[in-house]
Amino acid sequence: MRTDGEPTAAKRVVGVVGGGIAGLTAAYRLSQAAQQQNLPLDLKLLEATDCIGGLIQTTTENGFVMERGPDAFITIKPWAFQLCQDLGIADQLISPNPNFPRSFIVRAGKLYPVPEGFYLMAPTALWPFVTTPIFSWRGKLRMAMDLFLPPSVPDTDESLEDFVVRRLGREAFERMAQPMIGGIYSANPKELSLKATMPQFLQLEQRFGSIIRALVETMSARRAGGVRYSIFRTFPAGMRTLVDRLVQG
Ligand SMILES: Cc1cc2nc3c(=O)[nH]c(=O)nc-3n(C[C@H](O)[C@H](O)[C@H](O)COP(=O)(O)OP(=O)(O)OC[C@H]3O[C@@H](n4cnc5c(N)ncnc54)[C@H](O)[C@@H]3O)c2cc1C
Repeated sequence: MRTDGEPTAAKRVVGVVGGGIAGLTAAYRLSQAAQQQNLPLDLKLLEATDCIGGLIQTTTENGFVMERGPDAFITIKPWAFQLCQDLGIADQLISPNPNFPRSFIVRAGKLYPVPEGFYLMAPTALWPFVTTPIFSWRGKLRMAMDLFLPPSVPDTDESLEDFVVRRLGREAFERMAQPMIGGIYSANPKELSLKATMPQFLQLEQRFGSIIRALVETMSARRAGGVRYSIFRTFPAGMRTLVDRLVQG
């Protein structure tokens, strides 16, 4: 009880809905702010499932760390790294091994490297694309048709899925774009606006008339920037470390 005549701050009752990284971080930041300003806080985190972490779900099998959702965050957007610093776990962070800068796609139960020069949805190098077993010959020919198809009407929008299927075919969407892009937005590409998520592809289509041609033309600038694997961070025991630390408060 205060005796200096100032009224005691009323207790704030706050409910945070969802125990994914957004809800956990909101709850953590709220508790931090309440502590700093000496405000009494009654905080409840409401989670619909019996599992905390949302899409962040790490498992370990035979000594291998497996991620069912996000496997890293990027440091060019500062907030996740800042959160790790505030939680005192930034010194545990690791970045990808520069000796193995490859991504793999599972196809028919086997891991295949993403062909050299492939950028999200379209190839930029001929030989790795021709020889990859990820696509059928029919699928490859359909992708090559991107070079001849007319661009869409300027200033129109469509879903990410419709765009990739229209330019490069359904196989390119299902076997490469969907797994590569689906993870970035954690949403159904049929419901994602291309204009809102990847407007650069709309612009490239209008400017070059073809996504493959556009990527080939702009690839030298992209290469000069280097493959930026060094911007990724995770923990030796996986992204679960971040969730566990947030739960500890
Ligand atoms: C396969 C995949 C790979 C990804 N890879 C990366 C990556 O490498 N790097 C990266 O930065 N991002 C990645 N992402 C995106 C990232 O996972 C998400 O942006 C992020 O985890 C979303 O966090 P969130 O808290 O907003 O939502 P979620 O993780 O979805 O959490 C929402 C939580 O709210 C709960 N909830 C929902 N409704 C209610 C309700 N009414 N009442 C109570 N609880 C409710 C849910 O059960 C869930 O636990 C990936 C996504 C996927 C799907």
